[in-house]
Amino acid sequence: PASISVKELAEVLGKKGSDLVMALMKKGQMLNINATLDFDTAAAIAEDYNVILEQEEEKDILETVFAEEEDDEKDLKERPPVVVVMGHVDHGKTSLLDAIRHSNVTKGEAGGITQHIGAYTVQIDGKPITFLDTPGHEAFTAMRMRGAQITDIAILVVAADDGVMPQTVEAINHAKAAGVEIIVAINKMDKPSANPDRVKQELVEYGLVAEDWGGQTICVPVSAVTKEGLDSLLEMIILVAEMKELKANPNKHARGAIVEAQLDKGRGPVATVLVQNGTLQVGDPIVAGAAYGKIRAMTDDKGRRVKKAGPSTPVEILGLSEVPSAGDSFYVAENDKQARQVAESIIAKNRENMIKETPQKVSLDDLFSQ
Ligand code: GDP
Ligand code: MG
Repeated sequence: PASISVKELAEVLGKKGSDLVMALMKKGQMLNINATLDFDTAAAIAEDYNVILEQEEEKDILETVFAEEEDDEKDLKERPPVVVVMGHVDHGKTSLLDAIRHSNVTKGEAGGITQHIGAYTVQIDGKPITFLDTPGHEAFTAMRMRGAQITDIAILVVAADDGVMPQTVEAINHAKAAGVEIIVAINKMDKPSANPDRVKQELVEYGLVAEDWGGQTICVPVSAVTKEGLDSLLEMIILVAEMKELKANPNKHARGAIVEAQLDKGRGPVATVLVQNGTLQVGDPIVAGAAYGKIRAMTDDKGRRVKKAGPSTPVEILGLSEVPSAGDSFYVAENDKQARQVAESIIAKNRENMIKETPQKVSLDDLFSQ
């Protein structure tokens, strides 16, 4: 549980409730025996009694209902890598993503590039790579917090004329914590003040040692402006992806993550989702947090209507009852009724949690009537 009462904590510590209340009061913490403590507060108190409190992982309703069976090796097929671009502000994340997207657009598709669905797939020598087009690391952080591990590779953009900056370090920490492979793109190589060696030097401090310096980190000098090095960068992504042997089972109900979502005046809730396993189809009943519905229509990153989307494919979907949060997982249910019921139990649980989190006021009367 996310919270515990003083009384319950006393039991855990093998003390009388009233004794714990007194002990806390002596330390200046005026708490009623029925007051609820959040986990961190309870853990800090327990520590004073040399007891380590461990939080029991609360199983997500969705995780329970849609518990995933492990796929049979024979059902697994290669899937494209999912790549996120991270780095300090103004080091060229957006420019790089744009350059990659445009470099890959064939003339026939030119109209499609205006489409922005928060993620896109490019083909490199017939091999697809999916890029998450989310600016900054906020979305990425939100996704990690919700436990959705959706990226395989992080491109760390570092401007060659500026070097490692605070958000570069943040990005490194996020990627490492998520166990995501880092490829460094040393950007702005076209600038006269570009100094890639300084960047490599600075990265050493954060455990990223460039390959040509005897380390393991792939560093590719690039310029989003002149497009220099972009092909090498993409080749490196393919190479790393192949080494990781990324696979999924396209022949089952889909599950995945919400990349971004908003309310469209005409179309209702619109969500860009990334399929992680299985195949998503028009007509599928889905649940994403408290949002549910039957997929009415799907559009790919080129603005084309599609009926299906397999693993590592981003698509925009219509038909949800409300706007889900970026980072929420989505699941395809057995039928419409199950989707609705699961969403309803989540709504009920959210309401319950909200009531629990409302702070309790403790008056002196309460305190001394124990
Ligand atoms: P973001 O904040 O990381 O998304 O950075 P942007 O892509 O918005 O780029 C910040 C600024 O750097 C813009 O003025 C870009 O035109 C410029 N910029 C990005 N990449 C390069 C590059 O390779 N060379 C040069 N000279 N400028 C670049
Ligand atoms: Mg940007």
